[in-house]
Amino acid sequence: MINRYRVDGNKHIKLSEIDTAETGNIDRHDAEMKTPQLLAELAELQDLLYASQSTAVLIVLQGLDTAGKDGSIQHVMGVMNPQSCRVASFKVPTAAEAAHDFLWRIHSETPGKGGITIFNRSHYEDVLVVRVHNMVPEPVWRARYDKINAFESLLAESNTVIVKFFLHISKDEQKERLLERERNPVKAWKLSPADWRERELWDSYQEAYNDAINQCAKPHAPWYIIPADHKWYRNIQIAEILVETLRPYREGWQKRLEMIGAEELKQLRAERQQH
Ligand code: AMP
Ligand code: MG
Repeated sequence: MINRYRVDGNKHIKLSEIDTAETGNIDRHDAEMKTPQLLAELAELQDLLYASQSTAVLIVLQGLDTAGKDGSIQHVMGVMNPQSCRVASFKVPTAAEAAHDFLWRIHSETPGKGGITIFNRSHYEDVLVVRVHNMVPEPVWRARYDKINAFESLLAESNTVIVKFFLHISKDEQKERLLERERNPVKAWKLSPADWRERELWDSYQEAYNDAINQCAKPHAPWYIIPADHKWYRNIQIAEILVETLRPYREGWQKRLEMIGAEELKQLRAERQQH
């Protein structure tokens, strides 16, 4: 079954028509029972991915401030083997990064075969924050959609499975979460005065996200728009989508491992016979 939140060029979406508080047909209790099972399967798939060394996995996380990027990373990383999973966070470009083309810093962080990399923000910032703040002229950011599509095609052709999540929250939910950060001394470090200023640009960001998603949703690099007002729902959706994306590879990875194993054993026997 095709996931209901998947956008891969099959349809044109409008974020304003997508409910941020949706919880599908599962309640919180059931979701919290089922999520650990999905995460256990994800960990098992990661082991096969790592051992078989034939596929790479790139997970892109995008969303406005407080949308839950950090929480989603904790949720997924909590079950991963750290040997073959890493996070790359993209901030305001450094001087060295800004001196190069926008994909330079991104390309060097992409996963190699056997690995999973989670992008906390990504090359999409170059058609989001950069567009909203007019950091480059319009023709420059407009031309970037094609460049992003070409880049993601290149990765996909090189055996990288790409999964992109947009964590979709409402403006009211963001306000709640920003206020919560202000109230809670342990969370206040996350708050930046810029967050409230960025919030005033909400509509421009929604427009920029609409375009980024519609322009760059492909079968080999789909977007998933996750209703993210409820964290438990966001968590189960992310777990389910990752498992459903990787499950079809399981058999191929297992076969490859058996082949590698058989080859090793053959060599071992051959060596033993010589002694
Ligand atoms: P945070 O994710 O809260 O640590 O914040 C990182 C900040 O870096 C966000 O405000 C992003 O919009 C900003 N950022 C990330 N990539 C770029 C970029 N390419 N150009 C300008 N700002 C960026
Ligand atoms: Mg922030």
